[in-house]
Amino acid sequence: MNCKETQRLLVPYINGDLESGEEEEFVRHIRHCPECYEELEVYATVFAGIRQLDGADEKIDYRTLVEDSLDHSEEDAIDEHFLSTYAFLLKTAATIILFYMLVRWFF
Ligand SMILES: [Zn+2]
Repeated sequence: MNCKETQRLLVPYINGDLESGEEEEFVRHIRHCPECYEELEVYATVFAGIRQLDGADEKIDYRTLVEDSLDHSEEDAIDEHFLSTYAFLLKTAATIILFYMLVRWFF
């Protein structure tokens, strides 16, 4: 699976719509591709934010959001962290700001 295919599957993956073979390949690619991992992180953060805005009660730990999801998807979890906590917080803040700007522009 290449980067283009993987990034096309980001939203179906987050929604849990992938078939198991497809999901396996997706997770394998994400684990070895920092670029797609980062992309997944942004999508997962935005989607979790939307769920919370929709009034979901669940408490979301943004720090472990992607790792939890990937660990859930694969049998042997590999402990890899591509980003420091600081960089992740910065990106999370940027994502939320971007998201609010989009909401204000389009709705
Ligand atoms: Zn990739």
